[in-house]
Amino acid sequence: AEGPVDAAPTAAAGPKSVCSTTTAPATSLQLIDGDQNFTEDVNKYMDVEWGLVDRGFDYNVVAVFGSQSTGKSTLLNKLFGTRFATMDEVARQQTTKGIWMSKGIDMNVLVMDVEGTDGRERGENQDFERKSALFSLATAEVMIVNLWEHMVGLYNGANMGLLKTVFEVNLQLFQKKGKEKTLLFFVIRDHIGNTPLENLARTLTTDLERIWRELTKPEGLEDCNITDFFDYMFAALPHKILMPEKFDEEALKLRSRFSDKDNQDYVFKPRYHKRIPADGFSHYASSIWDKIVTNRDLDLPTQQELLAQFRCDEILNAAYAEFIKGVKPFQRPIESGKVADELGPEMKKYLDEALATFDKNASRYHQQVYQRKREEMTAKCHATLHILFLGQLKNLHKRATQRFAQRLQEQLGTGTYDFLTVVTEAREAVFTEFLKGAQAILMEGTDWTFEDAREQLEEDLSEIAAQRRTEEVNKMIGTYEKSVRNEVEELVGLHLNEAKPDLWKQLLDAYKAVEAQAEAKLVERAQRFGSGEAEQNDCVIKLRRRSWECLNKRIRDELVDNMVMVKLRNRLEDKFRYDEQGLPRVWKPEDDMDSYFQKAKDEASAALWMTNTAFKLIPLFAHIDWSKSELDVAEHFENDKEFEYAETLTIYSASKQQDLNMRFRREAEALFLEAKRSIVATEAK
Ligand code: GDP
Ligand code: MG
Repeated sequence: AEGPVDAAPTAAAGPKSVCSTTTAPATSLQLIDGDQNFTEDVNKYMDVEWGLVDRGFDYNVVAVFGSQSTGKSTLLNKLFGTRFATMDEVARQQTTKGIWMSKGIDMNVLVMDVEGTDGRERGENQDFERKSALFSLATAEVMIVNLWEHMVGLYNGANMGLLKTVFEVNLQLFQKKGKEKTLLFFVIRDHIGNTPLENLARTLTTDLERIWRELTKPEGLEDCNITDFFDYMFAALPHKILMPEKFDEEALKLRSRFSDKDNQDYVFKPRYHKRIPADGFSHYASSIWDKIVTNRDLDLPTQQELLAQFRCDEILNAAYAEFIKGVKPFQRPIESGKVADELGPEMKKYLDEALATFDKNASRYHQQVYQRKREEMTAKCHATLHILFLGQLKNLHKRATQRFAQRLQEQLGTGTYDFLTVVTEAREAVFTEFLKGAQAILMEGTDWTFEDAREQLEEDLSEIAAQRRTEEVNKMIGTYEKSVRNEVEELVGLHLNEAKPDLWKQLLDAYKAVEAQAEAKLVERAQRFGSGEAEQNDCVIKLRRRSWECLNKRIRDELVDNMVMVKLRNRLEDKFRYDEQGLPRVWKPEDDMDSYFQKAKDEASAALWMTNTAFKLIPLFAHIDWSKSELDVAEHFENDKEFEYAETLTIYSASKQQDLNMRFRREAEALFLEAKRSIVATEAK
């Protein structure tokens, strides 16, 4: 199937192609030199000298064939305004070495002037003739076959040998029918006019078909017709030297068949086009020539595929480089953890641009190769974008968790709130933002997904919320624990300092009241917070335990050795120094101190009495005693296996009590002695 022939790009369709008088003839390039080397300058000429490189399929190629010195170069220069050297200029030698190429003046036509063979010296040149035929057929749409009128009908002449070669190599090149045909354009020179052109054409056609029939055809192509591969056209020109004006006139007419698309005999029909995009011509031509000179099998479909691979790769790399330049500015911010808000549309933009650039240049090449390379290009771009996608996703995730935590922080800091509502709203907000961001960077035609990230985010938000909840609950408990502590400090100090026998009942009842009040407030607070029953219970259990620990610690602090000694001493002094009415007792000499202490006969027994009085405190302090209270808090801790509640009840062990007894006895003795001395001192006055 024939692809569309490109319209000339506007940039290239300059005045050159419109205005015929101002344009200078194009420079010629020796494509293949006398030593059969292919030039490296084709692309430069295609671009700078001939301005064809961007024309896609909108250019044509014509080659000339024929014996040496039959006026080929002269003809080309006439038809195309080229400046190929002719024998008139370069006296008496073969002027055209190898193959020359130029561009037709005012037309997008590449013209190839092919070295002719001298009929007399065929043989050594046959090799090059074959090679140049191969090359011309692979590239040219139209082959001008140049011959004198008197050569027509000379079946065994040099021309016919040449045509046989053309046909043979054509069969080698085009293995299948239905590929691009080539137009054989016969120009009969020095046409005298006696024999009409139609007759000459008929003779030539007969000869062509005869040659074709006699060709050994490759397998599978035994039955093919010459017309499967070639179309013919015929034209005649008068004798240039004898009828120069007539010649010029006819040549001008002939020219229009090459330059004027509206001419009904216009030669460059789309079906002849070899479908080599102009930007690939250089590579294609040189690799074809390379194959030809190294005598390797040359089949054009393969060559076209190879060309497509080569050019599509070049086009792909150029488009990809542009693409990378476009997306590069996003790489650093994304790597550094920022969310690039414009990323989604920008990714799409650069991808679309890259593919458009690729399509524009590559779509002219072999379709399967182009499609394959397009997929490759797309995959390559996608791979690059996927890194950005993942980075952005990560950053979106990070931003969502940060904003979530921040929102909780802001809202939880203030007054009363329902935790669940706060969390739900915050989650909703950050999730919406996350999904919007993630959706924006999804790419059509990829299997990218953000499901994992979304699930991960859900998990992370739950975790943050849970953590936050624990913190809030602890804070809540802490608040009430603190209020319990404040009251407990006072209570403990108060009750222990003036320890009465019902010390524990008083203290514990007071404690229970304090604790119960805090508990009630905590439950109310927890309800407002949105706690369920389980969480409320949990809070209460924690508060109870912390409150108890608080009380317990306070009691122990108050009853450490030194503190309890002070308490005991105070108590003793109260008894000893104050009378029953609470008035200071002044011991007078006549007072029988010893007898006052009843059985006290000596210092030791007096001290014993005194200490006994005070010592009643030690066993009292030794155990927290719930027995007088109506309700024991023990049940609070029944289920709290880790908490050794029972142990908290013992303040002093038995040995500790003994130890305290001993210590205090010594203090009591000292006190008694001192009292006695003060009496003695008074007596001495
Ligand atoms: P080429 O070797 O085929 O390229 O031939 P050239 O174009 O170099 O011309 C070879 C010679 O033929 C030159 O001297 C030309 O002047 C002459 N010549 C060119 N055109 C014609 C023509 O139409 N008729 C005749 N008789 N001579 C021509
Ligand atoms: Mg020539």
